[in-house]
Amino acid sequence: MKIAVLGAGAMGCLYGGLLSIGDNEVWLIDIWKEHVNRINEKGLIIEDENGKKIIKNVQATIDTNDIGIVDLILVFVKSTITDKALKPVKNIIGENTLILTLQNGLGNIEKIQSVVGKKNIIAGTTSHGSTLLEPARIYHAGKGTTVIGEIDRENTERIQNLKEIFTKCKIETVITNNVLGVIWDKLLVNVGINAITALTELRNGELLDFKETEELLEIAVEEGINVSKAKKIILINEDPIEHTKKVCRLTTSNKSSMLQDIINKRKTEIEMINGAIVKEGERQGIKTPINLALTNLIKIKERN
Ligand code: NAD
Repeated sequence: MKIAVLGAGAMGCLYGGLLSIGDNEVWLIDIWKEHVNRINEKGLIIEDENGKKIIKNVQATIDTNDIGIVDLILVFVKSTITDKALKPVKNIIGENTLILTLQNGLGNIEKIQSVVGKKNIIAGTTSHGSTLLEPARIYHAGKGTTVIGEIDRENTERIQNLKEIFTKCKIETVITNNVLGVIWDKLLVNVGINAITALTELRNGELLDFKETEELLEIAVEEGINVSKAKKIILINEDPIEHTKKVCRLTTSNKSSMLQDIINKRKTEIEMINGAIVKEGERQGIKTPINLALTNLIKIKERN
């Protein structure tokens, strides 16, 4: 399969590197020249707790004219720029090119749809975690399942093929018939953890050490549950608040991605996470004051 990864940061490099085994031809697309050049010159380094691998079987580029039509685009830019990043790479999209988003937050499907239409979009979530250490070097922090699904269709042959290709590359993958439920499940976890850790600079597990942050987590997720119900989303987890706390415990020493973005003075995905709960809540006539407060406070922090 000919695969392009749009946004070769922490996660793009991880999936690009994993998919590079076997018959796949993998192209990493990024705007960061130093990173792209180093991958092409010295290979992509993926480290984990067992050591490091150098992947030479990938090509990186900032110019999609080098690539030609691909079978799959895996979108891994930050969700704030999904549509902006996809527009200039339309030259590698053919009639049957699948576009897969495993990004966090709400709105990626709609942004991709605004550029290429809905027909070939596949969405999902990932439980892998990755950190970019320096150009061409990432740390594979956490391992887990990749869940993929058609947007408004049941299981198809193309998604089954995708699952097989991922599985061959040792990416444990399952197919869901309720991809929106899966995306909302992950969204609610991020709603409960990301902004509060970014504002308090606490690690994930530490949110449960203080009754004040635990209470905020509970209300933020509760507001999200109310919005999801109004939108008739069928959540997978029966108790998203308890599930979010479980994730806090499982990732106890992690700094959330939003906290890392704030520390590194990068734009966060707040608009697609707590901000999305506020926006969807307005559409459904449901008040979400805690998510509004968290969103506005993060925006102020970003500006400063
Ligand atoms: P990242 O910042 O490490 O990578 C994004 C990459 O996109 C960067 O290398 C950047 O240079 C590149 N980029 C920016 N503009 C571009 C453009 N116009 N065209 C092409 N490339 C461009 O981010 P990440 O941590 O890999 O996260 C990507 C997505 O995956 C986010 O939605 C995030 O929430 C989600 N996610 C991340 C993790 C994680 O552990 N890092 C886990 C699950 C989900």
